[in-house]
Amino acid sequence: MILLGSTGSIGVNALRVAEQFGLSVDTLVAGRNIDLLNIQIKKHSPKRVVVTRDEDRARVNHHDVRAGDAAILQAIEESSSGHVVNALVGFAGFRPTLKALECGKKVALANKESLVVGGMFVDTSSIVPIDSEHFGLWYLNRSDRPVSRMVVTASGGAFRDWPLEKLGNATLEDALKHPNWSMGQKITIDSASMMNKLFELLEARWLFGEGEYDALIETRSLIHALIDYADGSTTAHFAHADMRLPIAYALMGRVKTPIVERIDLARIGSLEFREIDPARYPIWEIKKDLLANPARGVIVNAANEAAIERFVAGEIGFSALSRLILNAYEAFDSAPSSVEEIFEIDLCVRAYVRELA
Ligand code: NDP
Repeated sequence: MILLGSTGSIGVNALRVAEQFGLSVDTLVAGRNIDLLNIQIKKHSPKRVVVTRDEDRARVNHHDVRAGDAAILQAIEESSSGHVVNALVGFAGFRPTLKALECGKKVALANKESLVVGGMFVDTSSIVPIDSEHFGLWYLNRSDRPVSRMVVTASGGAFRDWPLEKLGNATLEDALKHPNWSMGQKITIDSASMMNKLFELLEARWLFGEGEYDALIETRSLIHALIDYADGSTTAHFAHADMRLPIAYALMGRVKTPIVERIDLARIGSLEFREIDPARYPIWEIKKDLLANPARGVIVNAANEAAIERFVAGEIGFSALSRLILNAYEAFDSAPSSVEEIFEIDLCVRAYVRELA
């Protein structure tokens, strides 16, 4: 496989799965964590390596090291591997997804932002999602029973139990205390604001087609997806929270050996479900409009990334994050009619959010 984002949370788990099942690694793409990258190179012997910064190349223990965004696209093009795992974070993952598809490769896609910004220009028949909720939906949706609604679950993120009046003072450190999962910084912040679930609804819409999609908080992250059928019954996908499960399926199609320990329901005892309340998660207000106009995902994504940059830099508080995104969503109503327009809108929205008071 060509693994983009090998040093991140998903990348590390993808390499654990590769090791467990003896899968070979053709290309490693990482950012700035060169120490971890060198350990991965030693273990997996890739043919080529790409890093973000030119000045890091000399520190990488490999004979073929390139740097920069263009080098990622070139590596995808050059590689004879037919499988790309895209575990880059944010908009930076979009062009590599397009390049991989253009080269006729299968994409195991963790980079959900690719679908959020450009789902209408992506051939999803060559994509397998690495996301526990979409894996759960796929796992359940293996029959011809008529479906009435697909539901993904949310943990509720770091602030689900905080008093509402304290949210304005929440810090980056607070936002990173996810109750159930250990993940990269951006997706952990996206979980706290509920943006991650909004993204997942869009992702589901592009992967499974038009239909009814919703989300629900399940506080222990033991159920990842539910499907309501036309006959009134519902099925649920239970599994311990471990990304190796969706990754293994995305890489191999089927799995016969245990990856996670089975859930013992008697020991679990009880589960708790909650509605997603817009008073706690203000971006939930745009859910209906966004699902009706999924091409506007590029606006939400760009506003979110620019607002997160400002939150991480300490320029704005946690509550301002959603406020800025909602402001941008109102200010821009463009829907891209080409891939290049996605890049133009992305730049405009970012510039707008960076200047907002
Ligand atoms: P991380 O922040 O942990 O990892 C991101 C990876 O991308 C790192 O390897 C990082 O390198 C690399 N990277 C970042 N920018 C660049 C760049 N410009 N060029 C090359 N490499 C770059 O993120 P996650 O693994 O948490 O998430 C990755 C994607 O998967 C996101 O889209 C997320 O929404 C999605 N996802 C994540 C889940 C999870 O459990 N973590 C679950 C489901 C989906 P370095 O660290 O070396 O700087």
